[in-house]
Amino acid sequence: MKRRLSRDDSSLRSPKRIWQSKTNNVCMAHPLAVVMRQYGLLETIVSNLRANDLFALALSSKALYKTIITTSSSLENLLGRVKCSGRGVDIRNKCHMKSAFFYSYNCTEHVHCGSDTSHQQIESRPCVSCKITTCNECRIHCVYQSIYEAPGDPDDAAELPNFSGFVLLQSAEQPILSPHHLVSENPSATPRWGNPAEGQNRPYHDQGYLDVPLEMGASAPPECIEDLLDLDLGCHSLISMSGDSRYAAPSPVLSSLYQVTEERKIEVCDSCTGHGATREVLVRQSSGATRLPTNKISGQTVAKPTNTCHCTLRERILDRWLCLKCYLAEESAIKAQARKQKSDSEGFCRCGELARHVLCLWCLGKVSEGKNVQLT
Ligand SMILES: [Zn+2]
Ligand SMILES: [Zn+2]
Ligand SMILES: [Zn+2]
Ligand SMILES: [Zn+2]
Repeated sequence: MKRRLSRDDSSLRSPKRIWQSKTNNVCMAHPLAVVMRQYGLLETIVSNLRANDLFALALSSKALYKTIITTSSSLENLLGRVKCSGRGVDIRNKCHMKSAFFYSYNCTEHVHCGSDTSHQQIESRPCVSCKITTCNECRIHCVYQSIYEAPGDPDDAAELPNFSGFVLLQSAEQPILSPHHLVSENPSATPRWGNPAEGQNRPYHDQGYLDVPLEMGASAPPECIEDLLDLDLGCHSLISMSGDSRYAAPSPVLSSLYQVTEERKIEVCDSCTGHGATREVLVRQSSGATRLPTNKISGQTVAKPTNTCHCTLRERILDRWLCLKCYLAEESAIKAQARKQKSDSEGFCRCGELARHVLCLWCLGKVSEGKNVQLT
């Protein structure tokens, strides 16, 4: 006859209970967990890890998981202290295509994650979206300056080096002119640009004048990058930047930026225009819409929701410290919305009603300038 287990016996033999008991003991005894509980030590250890290492460490034992991921705010705090992973540099290297000129002339490329450069101090901050520490080289910029061509005659002091780089994550290499390259400028007050790989120099991201992509075979005057960054895109399109009828509109200099700024616009009807309602409609229509840009500018600073778009590239791209993985997620959410607005439904909201407004997917405010062309 089988002996019936008493209540106490059965609980003692429960595999779950045995496992819990074992892990609790491990919790108590795990020396690394005990050390890490002293928070100063945990922060010191974490500052030498990358985010993936931190997650791997947390998943290595229940005790360490409890210690590291106690609350979402402490995890966020720790993610803001890890080393940059270098992933942004990997993404840049995949997207940016050096032109044939790079290989034909005496050019060097300078693209290094802040975690891998000891001779230069590169600023790092938590990504505004995923909260993971990201260095200035691994986050999004409007114009990356990454390529340097030394002067042909190093003894000729008048000869300037050449600079080039890339717009956002677009593939085409574009020349970047320093203030000293433009005769119209009076750059005597500003130091000449040097090799960004040497001394205390830094890459000249988002500075100078952008020129026509090297392999495009078109001509247009260079555009001041500072002016581009501060253009109110709610009232002006980049198509209006070049007023010279001798050149194509938009200027070939701005073709990459123009595509990105136009893609953020969608046509909507009256009933889909309310600020909260719009996001709700978009989220209902596409799961990808949850990755649309938020109004978080940096840390806890949140831009006020507005009925009218006054987005600038500086505010939406530069002031939001966004890692490139999160930028790609936002870009693909915006492209998904753009695809929903098929060319044959131009003039209509996605709900089927007549469109009466153009909305900006960066801020969900109304764009007064309108949508110029249907992009594919
Ligand atoms: Zn980095
Ligand atoms: Zn991120
Ligand atoms: Zn609608
Ligand atoms: Zn906007």
